[in-house]
Amino acid sequence: MELLKYDIVILGSGLAGMRAALQASMANEKLSIALISKLHAMRSHSVSAEGGISGVLYPGRNNDNEDLHAYDTVKGSDFLADQDAVEMLVKHAPSEIRLFDRLGVPWKRSSKGEIELRAFGGMSVPRTVFAADKTGFFMLNALYDSLLEHKNVDIFHEHMATKLIMDHDRFNAITTIDMATGEMKAFAAKASIIATGGFARSYGFTTTSYSSTGDGIYLAYEAGLPLKDMEFVQFHPTGLVPSAILITEAARGEGGYLVNSKGERFMKNYAKSVMELAPRDIVSRSIVTEIEQGRGISDKRLGDSEFVYLDMRHLGEDKINERLPMIKEISMKMVGIDPSKDPLPVRPAAHFTMGGIHTDITGNVMYGAKKKTMGLWAAGECGCVSVHGANRLGSNSLSQCVIWGKLTGNLAANFSSRHQLSDEIAGLAENEEDRISKILDAKGNENPYDLRKELWHTMDTYVGAYRTTKSLAKARKIIRNLKSRFSRIRIADKGMVYNTNLRDSLEILHMISLSELVVEGAIRRKESRGAHAMREYPKRNDKQWLKHTIAQKTSRGIKFSYVPVKITRWKPVERHY
Ligand SMILES: Cc1cc2nc3c(=O)[nH]c(=O)nc-3n(C[C@H](O)[C@H](O)[C@H](O)COP(=O)(O)OP(=O)(O)OC[C@H]3O[C@@H](n4cnc5c(N)ncnc54)[C@H](O)[C@@H]3O)c2cc1C
Repeated sequence: MELLKYDIVILGSGLAGMRAALQASMANEKLSIALISKLHAMRSHSVSAEGGISGVLYPGRNNDNEDLHAYDTVKGSDFLADQDAVEMLVKHAPSEIRLFDRLGVPWKRSSKGEIELRAFGGMSVPRTVFAADKTGFFMLNALYDSLLEHKNVDIFHEHMATKLIMDHDRFNAITTIDMATGEMKAFAAKASIIATGGFARSYGFTTTSYSSTGDGIYLAYEAGLPLKDMEFVQFHPTGLVPSAILITEAARGEGGYLVNSKGERFMKNYAKSVMELAPRDIVSRSIVTEIEQGRGISDKRLGDSEFVYLDMRHLGEDKINERLPMIKEISMKMVGIDPSKDPLPVRPAAHFTMGGIHTDITGNVMYGAKKKTMGLWAAGECGCVSVHGANRLGSNSLSQCVIWGKLTGNLAANFSSRHQLSDEIAGLAENEEDRISKILDAKGNENPYDLRKELWHTMDTYVGAYRTTKSLAKARKIIRNLKSRFSRIRIADKGMVYNTNLRDSLEILHMISLSELVVEGAIRRKESRGAHAMREYPKRNDKQWLKHTIAQKTSRGIKFSYVPVKITRWKPVERHY
C-alpha cells in the first residue's frame, strides 16, 4: 500500500471539509494538507443545499439579536442542544456569511444593495441569507475556487476512505481506495478532520444524495470512538412525491401553504401561531397525522403513498422565478407540475442526521464519553457538537458546517505545527488491505443491493417520524439479520477500475451498522423529544432524559452511556408554537 505523508488530512470536501482546508492553509501556508473525497470534490452533498444559511446580519432589525437566534435554536432542538455550542454558532454566523460575500457568493440583495433575509421554520424572524434556492452550490463553488489558489492543499478526488487508524487516543492515518485504479493508499498525518456528512441515505425515501452514507461516523465507531445522539433523525416535511427530492423550506418561508385533501391549511390545528413555519419535526408529524386520519391525497401515477399539497400558486410566477427557480425546474422535470399553476405533492422524507461523532465544543473528537482524542476533529453533519439537539432548525446546518470547519481548521493547523508524525502506520494499513480483498473476493450468495433495499424499507416503515416499541423491535430484528447476511455477500464486479460495486457494498455495511445504532438508541430513549417521537411515551421527560446518548463499540457489543446537556441560560420549558 502506498503511504503518503501530510501535516493534515481532511476527510470530506463538503462545506465543512473545504472550509477547514481553507482555514488550515491560511493559518500556516507551510503545512501540507490533503483533502480527500470519495466523489469529485464539487459533487459533495453540500452542493445541493437549497434554502440558505442562518445568521443575525442586522441586529436590531425586527428586534432580532444573537440571543433570539440562540433561543430559537435551543427551543427548536427541544432543549437537547448544548447551549454553549449554540451561543458559539450564533456569534460566528454573521462573519462567516460576510466572508462568503467576499468570496463571491451572489447573496440575494435588495435594490439598495443590502443582503436580503428570508423566513425559515422555528426562526422567530427572517434571518436566513440565500442565493436563490442554490445556496450550497454557490458556497461550495466559492470555497473550491479559493482552494485552487492554495498550492499546499492537494485534493484527492474519488478516494474512498475505509479505515481510521488510531494509536489509542492519538490519530495516525486514514486508508483509502483510489477509485480510478483500485489501489489502496494510506494517508498518514499529524492531525485530521473528519467531515464526511450525515447518513440519512439509510432511508429509502430521503432528500439526501446517494453518497450520504455516514462513512466517517462508521469509521470512527469502528475505531472505538464514541458516537452521540444517533437516534435523532430529521424528517423534512416536503419531500417531492414520488422521488423525495427536496422542496426547500424556503418555499414555505416565502409563503407557501400546506393543504390536505379537504383543501384545509391544516397547520392551524398543530402550530396556530406559526402555521407552516413550525420546526420540521412538528410539521412532519402533522402531515403524517393528516394522512393517518384520512385527509391525505393519493394519485396512483405518483405511487402508493399518500401525500398532502404544498400550494405556492398565490406567490405568483415572478416571485417563484426569482427566488425559487430550482424548485420550479425540479417540479416541472420530476412531476410535470409548474408550482405557479398547480400544487405540489409532498410528504416527509429523511433529511438530516442530528447524531454523529461525539465531540467537545471545539469539534475535538472524544476518546471515551469524557476524554478527548489527540489530533482528531470532526466538523459538519458528521460531528455532534451538539448545536441541533433533537431537531435542527433549517439553515442552521450551513452555519454549523462553516463555523466548525473554520474552528477545526485552525486547531488542526496549530496542533500539527507542534507534533510529529507517528511511525506505527505501515503494518496497520496492510491489515486493512487484507480486509478489503476479502470483501471483494467473498464467494457468498447475498446480493448487497438486496440488503440495501431491505434496509431502506425497514427504516422507512419502522423507524420514521413516529416510532413505537414494537416497530423498533421489528427493525432491530431485521437489521441484525441484515448484518449477519452482509458477511455472506458476493460482489459481482471483481475489477479494480471504478469498482462501484465494492464502494456501494462498503457503504451498505456502514448504513446497516449506523441504522442499528439509531434503533438501539431509540429503543432506550423512553420519551418523545424533537425528531424522536414514541407513541407510548408522547411527552418529553426531562427528569430522566435530558441527556445525550453515547454509543461506543466494545468487544461485547454496543455500550450505551449518557452525558449531561449543557444548559447555560435557557431552562427547558415545554415547546409551544
Ligand atoms: C437537499 C438538501 C438541501 C439542504 N439545504 C440546506 C440549506 O439550505 N441550509 C442548511 O443549513 N442545510 C441544508 N441542508 C443540510 C446541509 O446541506 C448538510 O447538512 C451539509 O451540506 C453537510 O455538509 P458536510 O460538509 O458536513 O458534508 P457533505 O456535504 O455531505 O460532504 C461530505 C464529504 O465527505 C466525503 N466522504 C464521505 N464519505 C467518504 C469516504 N468514505 N471517503 C472519502 N470521502 C468521503 C464526500 O465525498 C463529501 O466530500 C440540506 C440538505 C439536503 C439533503
